[in-house]
Amino acid sequence: MTHQPSTGARDQVDVVVVGAGVTGLTAARRLQDAGLRVLVLEARERVGGRLLTDDVDGVRLEVGGQWVSPDQTALLDVLDDLGLATYPRHREGESVYVGLDGVRRTFTGDAFPVPAATAAEVDQIVAELDRLAKAMDPLAPWQHPDAAELDRVTFAEWLERRTDDVEARDNIALYVGPAMLTKPTHAFSALTAVLMAASAGGFSNLVDADFILDRRVVGGLQEVPLRLAERLGDGVRLGAPVTSIAWDDGGVAVSAGGTTTTARHALLAVPPTLVARIAFAPALPAAHQQMRQQQSFGLVIKLHITYETPFWRDAGLSGTAFSPYALVHEAYDNTNEDVPDETRGTLVGFVSDERADELLTLSPDERRRRVLESLRDYYGDEALHPVGYYESPWMHDEWTAGAYATSFATGSLTRFGPLTREDVGPLSFASSDIAGLGFQHVDGGIRMGEAAAQRILSATSSQPRPATDLER
Ligand SMILES: Cc1cc2nc3c(=O)[nH]c(=O)nc-3n(C[C@H](O)[C@H](O)[C@H](O)COP(=O)(O)OP(=O)(O)OC[C@H]3O[C@@H](n4cnc5c(N)ncnc54)[C@H](O)[C@@H]3O)c2cc1C
Repeated sequence: MTHQPSTGARDQVDVVVVGAGVTGLTAARRLQDAGLRVLVLEARERVGGRLLTDDVDGVRLEVGGQWVSPDQTALLDVLDDLGLATYPRHREGESVYVGLDGVRRTFTGDAFPVPAATAAEVDQIVAELDRLAKAMDPLAPWQHPDAAELDRVTFAEWLERRTDDVEARDNIALYVGPAMLTKPTHAFSALTAVLMAASAGGFSNLVDADFILDRRVVGGLQEVPLRLAERLGDGVRLGAPVTSIAWDDGGVAVSAGGTTTTARHALLAVPPTLVARIAFAPALPAAHQQMRQQQSFGLVIKLHITYETPFWRDAGLSGTAFSPYALVHEAYDNTNEDVPDETRGTLVGFVSDERADELLTLSPDERRRRVLESLRDYYGDEALHPVGYYESPWMHDEWTAGAYATSFATGSLTRFGPLTREDVGPLSFASSDIAGLGFQHVDGGIRMGEAAAQRILSATSSQPRPATDLER
């Protein structure tokens, strides 16, 4: 990898990839393997985007994405290919649930310990969402037979129409709102909720933490982009935020710092929200600009809390805990099983959407106090005394500015969805945010990177290159 050279330089390649996240690096590697000259320009001083494994106060933490589920076959294939091993998330023992009555209960399996009538309502709604998801091609949710109707109504309203049982609604909402899209359920449509389910192979998979959060990668999931970048060598340039792209039918001129690179194609492998940070000449078509104004990041604070020992295991607990009513709505044992001689125990917890808004208004000490008190309600008083405490900072970082990913506002998936993967002249767009299978996940990023590379390869092989002024 190289760093941004001094001003005035001018490079020429076949394809410029903007963004060295898993999507951009997947595409770049595919294009390079096909014999094209590729340059990846990355704003940060590191590769990986929303994947980062970091040492924080002596504890190795996966600051961004980390889990792999069995349906994520594109990611599993890449792990195989890169020689990366996985290990199962710790799940032995009982899980904890705190319900509407405020009572803490332990349970095993994936069904929360709720009253029988509530459980029946939950089962019936899960079955309906499974049925809706089955009828959806996640790459084209707007073609769902009920797309127009489902995209017009918020998920909150859709749930209210299904049942009067508040706890049943709150539990279903938890799986899609705080746990996945990280937005309040009144901020996205029922169609987007069905997309989330369809992208994971069905709603029943979303409610099963042992499925969705099945395995971790030895050394951390950032190993994937790190190893992809290694193969690209000098084809990845760090500290190179792209600020403008001039384009015509013949190609692109991409400017980052003082360097302009000309190419036949550019792939924008950045979240949709960051496309507008780049000045395009000519401007992108109106519909493209409108589309990306309707896509926004969710907000979740990923918390990493380390203890002298994984004390909850001694109490027969798995570390898995849920409550739609708690500040930390979900938490898991995230101890690094792949680190030899690790004696400490780490919990990972999440505070999402409106609760995250509130938490962010507090001082660091107050935030920590509130989080630890929430964990105490799950695991007891020992949770109040960690040896390490860290909040992942994605929402403060201008090259992400949210977490986990972006999704459409109510009504916009049907209106703009068909444009998400549409090329504009020599410009292509890809990221996990616009995936079908693996939507918002690393698996989806890999699928989008592969698909964009295929589109670029087809265009490169079938079209003689028109003359362009951009290189002169
Ligand atoms: C806290 C958290 C937890 C998550 N947990 C999981 C999980 O357990 N499992 C899972 O599968 N997924 C998870 N995800 C989601 C997953 O990390 C993302 O979907 C995936 O990494 C996105 O990859 P990407 O390449 O599409 O985008 P990004 O990773 O965002 O990469 C885009 C890159 O473009 C760069 N960039 C942006 N603008 C410019 C510019 N103008 N010029 C140059 N470079 C630019 C950025 O710096 C970045 O490196 C999680 C995400 C977060 C934040």
